[in-house]
Amino acid sequence: MRSLEKAQQDVLAAVALLPETRVAVWEATGLGLAAPVVAPHDVPPFTNSAMDGYAVLGSDVGSAPVELQLLEDVPAGHVARQEVRAGAAIKIMTGAPLPDGADTVVKVEDTEPMPDAVRILAATPTGMAVRPAGGDLKTGDLVFEAGERLTPPHLAVLASLGISPTVHRRPVVAVLSTGDEVLSPETTRLGPGQIRDTNRPLLQAMLDELGAQVLDLGIVGDDEYLLRDALERGAAEADMILTSGGVSMGEYDLVKIVLRRLGTIEFWKVAMKPAKPFAFGHVEGTPLLGLPGNPVSVMVAFEQFARPALLQMMGCRSIFRARSVAKAAEKWRTDSAKVVFTRVVCELEGGVTWCRSSGGQSSNVLSALARADAFAVIPVGTGRVEIGDPVDIEWFRSPETRTAAEVLHG
Ligand code: AMP
Ligand code: MG
Repeated sequence: MRSLEKAQQDVLAAVALLPETRVAVWEATGLGLAAPVVAPHDVPPFTNSAMDGYAVLGSDVGSAPVELQLLEDVPAGHVARQEVRAGAAIKIMTGAPLPDGADTVVKVEDTEPMPDAVRILAATPTGMAVRPAGGDLKTGDLVFEAGERLTPPHLAVLASLGISPTVHRRPVVAVLSTGDEVLSPETTRLGPGQIRDTNRPLLQAMLDELGAQVLDLGIVGDDEYLLRDALERGAAEADMILTSGGVSMGEYDLVKIVLRRLGTIEFWKVAMKPAKPFAFGHVEGTPLLGLPGNPVSVMVAFEQFARPALLQMMGCRSIFRARSVAKAAEKWRTDSAKVVFTRVVCELEGGVTWCRSSGGQSSNVLSALARADAFAVIPVGTGRVEIGDPVDIEWFRSPETRTAAEVLHG
């Protein structure tokens, strides 16, 4: 049986970087930058006003009140025709270019309009409310390095620079569920022995969140030939295949069998809990991650193998989720031969994060997974965790946790 680290290394070593492509900022959410971004011009591109007010010479407004002649109005998007000189002011809106000569903006609240003039009511230091050209980014600045994953603020920066980024293209991931007992999640009536497919919706949602494109191969019954067809299609059309079920020790665990016949199988057991029966191999050169059938195992295996592998394929430098240290709020006994991923809810109390089990820890218990904030990752050799023991927490969501009533106090 492979250790988790070794299995992760093997998967990461076997996946290839996706080709580079240029995309519009609209299309780039979640993708990895393939090339560094250098500022082609200053941001802001011109010196402008941070306030609605009056552009003046600082030397005129060092003391107040003072009356200045009004030369003209400049709304945002327009440029002053005149220059500000001693004794004069130009009315200016937020974001409008600072007129020549001016070095200070007095905000409108500190002024009083007069016929063809303005009275400055408050002494204003030179440079007030002026946003200099290049104050955010200067021409030639390294804005982002290759390997950065594009979040909404990154996209806004790229938009400000007029850059369509060079990224690694979105991975196409084929997803299929296996098992004669598994029916579509839309099924209204289950017959004896039947269950609904939880794994495709789970995987689809996790892949959506990651920025991958899903190729849905549906549900394949426990039939070697159907499975072979589906895997061949996945291999031809996708960058990665994710199957669920059919990788444990049963007679009908066909993914393993078909993978062995059709492609290669690198390993199919990892010293982790849940998700011990996790198979990794290739079909016609396409990596196949054979996730276990139980849905909690699906998520754990996706998080530990598929997610980092896809992020690496997308050229992202950081591929593993954030971890922090919490304290156990209760005692646990764990399997000391495996890395154990305990589903936990976390609570911050007096600067300490406390975690406790979110409910049933069997690999089929989805409700406790849905309640959880994070996995407590208990390393091999631990065996027991006592109250107050430090435990590594791997966050898999940053949920909204505060209600309007809690925050807004009526
Ligand atoms: P298997 O590895 O195929 O024996 O599956 C292990 C367990 O997971 C069995 O209880 C299956 O019924 C269940 N299972 C497999 N696939 C799914 C699925 N897509 N949705 C929900 N449960 C599943
Ligand atoms: Mg099965």
